[in-house]
Amino acid sequence: MADVKIDKAPAGLEGPGFFATSLDQAVGLARKNSLWPMPFATSCCGIEFMATMASTYDLGRFGAERLSYSPRQADMLLVMGTIAKKMGPVLRKVYEQMAEPKWVVAVGACASSGGIFDTYSVLQGIDRIIPVDVYVPGCPPRPEQILDGIMRVQDLVQNESIRRRDSPEYKALLEKYQIQ
Ligand code: SF4
Repeated sequence: MADVKIDKAPAGLEGPGFFATSLDQAVGLARKNSLWPMPFATSCCGIEFMATMASTYDLGRFGAERLSYSPRQADMLLVMGTIAKKMGPVLRKVYEQMAEPKWVVAVGACASSGGIFDTYSVLQGIDRIIPVDVYVPGCPPRPEQILDGIMRVQDLVQNESIRRRDSPEYKALLEKYQIQ
């Protein structure tokens, strides 16, 4: 029989026959285990992501095997590869088309900082144009590192208030990027 691992219950009050928790925690638990990734892969890091999806590493174990190639049906943007400045507006459009709540992972050195391409044509990190939640180091990162980055997103999702997106801090962040 398969060794099924049950996710631990969120913080709450427990007693015989009952368990009570906050709505934030219950929604966070559901969201964390049903992320829909949108792969924005432009070069080699995308190949590592393909390995992350395949049987050995199997992103499906985290409830995130349903890839979305439409930004409107995705909530986790994975940017993998070198992003040329010309591609910047396209990436930003994809981000803007994703509905809230959404999270962004910069996978690998290129997406995080331009990587080895310190040149006029390459965006020196996607956080110049969109907010990033998690950075995965490496050139390329191994599938284990990509999984670790996604688990860091899961931590954020589990502990995020469902009202965070209405908070002044979040609005200020979007304003900084001139995103409406
Ligand atoms: S970080 Fe390295 S492996 Fe990833 S896209 Fe850039 S050059 Fe390729």
